[in-house]
Amino acid sequence: MTILTIENLSVHYGVIQALKDISFSVQSGEIYTLLGTNGAGKTTTLRTISRLIPRTSGKIEFNGKDISNVPSHTLPALGLCHVPEGRRVFPQLSVRDNLYLGAYYRTDKREIRNDLQYIFELFPRLEERRTQEAGSLSGGEQQMLAIGRGLMGRPKLLLLDEPSMGLAPLLVEEIFEIIQKINSEGTTVLLVEQNAHLALGISQRACVLETGQVAMTGTATDILTNPRIKEVYLGVG
Ligand code: ATP
Repeated sequence: MTILTIENLSVHYGVIQALKDISFSVQSGEIYTLLGTNGAGKTTTLRTISRLIPRTSGKIEFNGKDISNVPSHTLPALGLCHVPEGRRVFPQLSVRDNLYLGAYYRTDKREIRNDLQYIFELFPRLEERRTQEAGSLSGGEQQMLAIGRGLMGRPKLLLLDEPSMGLAPLLVEEIFEIIQKINSEGTTVLLVEQNAHLALGISQRACVLETGQVAMTGTATDILTNPRIKEVYLGVG
């Protein structure tokens, strides 16, 4: 079943066209990766899906509903949560309060507490630091917090923007294992990554963006074995 369909999406920043008629779709249950070099339009794609920036034309369908015009703040309740690039945690709030903010639209207090416990099981380091200000966490811990906050919205689809950015290799591996665990427990993931090897290693399918256009879509294996992709993204000729 398709959970997200992007159809002929175009986005402009003033006169600059950042996305040019892009189309792709994500199947329920998979990890789908958006690849591309700097400035290819990956973050713009996620921010447009989340309705944080307006599109010029095209359609976004999520879980059978046209969300092209719905307000951004209503998306978590529909099952779509976004973990932004750069984490964007609230530095002066505690770890626990940052997590509670991820559940802002929910009223089921007992379930919210259960979900908080689930996040703490997923990320024991967050439990140890639950009363600490989020700004005092390391980069890796802040990334865990940002992912945890996204999960507190109980998403069907989680948009993850560059979760490996700025992290040491061991932490990146840890984060990628967690992404796989989250996925195996039923959350579909749309992942933006510069680290093509790692991302394709955990994805079923992917889309490669180049200067705002779709250069290729296919299975992770198709993309990993494509000679041009190997040269540009995987550093092997
Ligand atoms: P990166 O990995 O560097 O974040 P990206 O693939 O996510 O790259 P985007 O950030 O989506 O790329 O940027 C796509 C294009 O849009 C780039 O040419 C960028 O310079 C431009 N752009 C992005 N944000 C803005 C903005 N707020 N105003 C004007 N142009 C922008």
